[in-house]
Amino acid sequence: MSHDKPAAPPVNVKLLLIGNSSVGKSSLLLRFSDEQWLPEDEASATIGVDFRVHKMEIKGKKVKLSIWDTAGQERFRTITSSYYRGAQGIILVYDVANRESFDALPRWYSELETYVSPAVVKIIVGNKVDKEFSRQVTYTEGQHYAQRMNSLFIEASAKTAVGVREAFIEVVEKILDTPELWASVTQKGRPGLGGGGVAENSMPGGGIDLNQAQSAESEGGCAC
Ligand code: GDP
Repeated sequence: MSHDKPAAPPVNVKLLLIGNSSVGKSSLLLRFSDEQWLPEDEASATIGVDFRVHKMEIKGKKVKLSIWDTAGQERFRTITSSYYRGAQGIILVYDVANRESFDALPRWYSELETYVSPAVVKIIVGNKVDKEFSRQVTYTEGQHYAQRMNSLFIEASAKTAVGVREAFIEVVEKILDTPELWASVTQKGRPGLGGGGVAENSMPGGGIDLNQAQSAESEGGCAC
């Protein structure tokens, strides 16, 4: 008599999008999770996306990705430790046609130093490459800075979809290559970073309706 092995539970992975306002964080999330693009004049309606859950299989492992968007919190400089809690991957976004958003990256990194463990995987995404005509930051500048910060790097466009899937997949692949980020998490059956140097008394998604978000997450849906 043969018994099928029970399917392994999915690896829970939490990713965060950070970066200045208007660089395209919500648009990248929407493009990746729904393969959608909202016309520029409708894009403000994406504020409130909060987070999406996306299931995928990478390197033979089932992965349940929750991807959190700041939902505009950064505008008021109110991103708190709670937003960062339990993240295994951070997507730092700037706009290649806006130098200020690139120059702001060091500030975002110093916030990360405070709130997340150094093992957390980081990728810098230079978004809006479709605006080649008004580019203010070269590919090489972005790449060198990412190397210096020990981060992955890619240029992308939420508008044309170039590089978007690759950006998310690269982070998840690197997370899967770093079992310390998820192995204990799967056993406990909850997302989080054991001993990751993040405040234990804080909650994910500060400023966001967490109860709604968590119930949506357990249903594999979205809080929006
Ligand atoms: P967030 O504040 O970082 O979440 O940025 P949004 O996703 O709300 O986008 C801000 C603005 O940039 C909106 O008008 C979007 O339509 C526009 N946008 C976002 N991504 C791209 C892109 O890849 N190319 C172009 N041309 N515009 C984009």
